[in-house]
Amino acid sequence: MLNARVVDPGTGTSSSPSDVWLQAGQISRVTPAGRVPGAGNVLDLKGNFVAPGMMDAHVHLAFDGGDDPKATHQASSDEEIIAQVVANARIALRAGITTVRDCGTPRRLLAPMRAALGMASDVATVVHCGAPLCRVGGHAHDMGGEVRTRHDVHTLIAEQHAAGATWIKLMASGGGFTPGTSPSVFEFDPVLLREAVVIAGSYGMKTAAHAHASSSIAACIDAGVHTLEHASMLGPDERCSPDPGLLRRAADAGIHIVPTVIAADIVSRQLQEGRQVLANPLDRNVVARLESRFTNVTEFLHSGVSIVAGTDAGPAHVTFDLLARELERYVAAGLTAQHALKSATTEAASMLGLESQVGRVRPGLWADLIFTSADPLQDITTLQTPLGVLKRGLLIAH
Ligand SMILES: [Zn+2]
Repeated sequence: MLNARVVDPGTGTSSSPSDVWLQAGQISRVTPAGRVPGAGNVLDLKGNFVAPGMMDAHVHLAFDGGDDPKATHQASSDEEIIAQVVANARIALRAGITTVRDCGTPRRLLAPMRAALGMASDVATVVHCGAPLCRVGGHAHDMGGEVRTRHDVHTLIAEQHAAGATWIKLMASGGGFTPGTSPSVFEFDPVLLREAVVIAGSYGMKTAAHAHASSSIAACIDAGVHTLEHASMLGPDERCSPDPGLLRRAADAGIHIVPTVIAADIVSRQLQEGRQVLANPLDRNVVARLESRFTNVTEFLHSGVSIVAGTDAGPAHVTFDLLARELERYVAAGLTAQHALKSATTEAASMLGLESQVGRVRPGLWADLIFTSADPLQDITTLQTPLGVLKRGLLIAH
C-alpha cells in the first residue's frame, strides 16, 4: 500500500505519506513513502488516510435492524436467520467495521451462526456472547438463558463455552423490549451474578452486563463484570440520575462502558412519532430514559471511565453500518475526535483482549484497515464514507 497517511488513534497523530507493507494478511512494515522498492500487488492510496478498522462492541446479528426486527425474527426459520447473520456481518465490514461483538443471540443459534460465519471471508470478525443469562422471565428470556440456580449458571456457561462464546452476557436490569421487566430495577440474584462472573472467568470468558438501573450498575461493579452496556443510570423513580461516584468506581475497577447512543436516538424518535416500537408497560419513562443515553456520555467522559463504541444494531431498528454515526454522537457529547476513534479501535481492542492483533496500523497486527479521504482525527464524519476496507489484507469490494 503506497502513499498512505497512517492514522494512529493512540497518539492522535497522522503520518506523512508512508508505504504500508502487508504479508499473509498482516502488516509487516511501515516505511516513508517511496523509500523501499516493492514487489507484489500494489495499492496506491495517493495521500489518503489509512486507519485501523472500527469495532462495534454491541450488536445482535440475529436481528435485521429493519422496521420490525422482533416480528421478522419470529417469522423467520433458523436457516433464514443464519443467512441474515452473515448478511449483517457483511454489511458491517463494508462500512469499515472489521470486528463486532455479538451481545446476545438465541441459545440454539450460537453454534450454527459460528459455522456459517466461519465459511465467509468477507464478513466482520465476530466475538460471541451467546444467549444472555437472565432471571426467570427476565429481559430477553426468549433467547433461552433463564437461570434459577447455581447449577443453571454452570450448565449454561459451560454449554456456551463449548459452542464458541468467549463472553457471557448478563441481563442485570429489565429492558425496553421485554414486558414484565423493569429497566429501573436490578433484576438478577446478586449471588448468581457473582457466581456467573466467577464461572465465566474459570473458562477464560469475560462478562458483559446489560444495566439500566443504577442499582444494577452498582451490583455489577461489585460482582466484577468487565463491561456495562447502556449504563442508563436510572434511579428507583425511573428517572436518570447520573452518579459520578458510581462511575468513578467503574473507572477504578477498569470497567468499560458501551453507551449505544444511536439506538436510543432512533427508537426515541420513532416513539415520539407515535410508533409502537417498544411495548413494555413497566418502562414508563421510556423516551427520557433513551434520551439520557446521549447526555450520559458527557458524564462518562468526565468520570474517566473507558468508553467503548457500540450501536445495539439489530433489535433496536439500527442497521449494522451506523458505528460512524455513534462516534459522531460521542463527539457531539464532548469527546475529541481522537477519543471517539479510540473508543472504536484501541479501547475496543483492549476490552476484547485483542490489542496484540487489531486496533492500530502497526507491524505484527492484522491488516484490518479502513481508507478515508479526510483525517478522522480531525473529522470523524469521514468514517461514514470509507474509500475502501481491508480485512486481513483482503480488499473488500464496495
Ligand atoms: Zn443489546
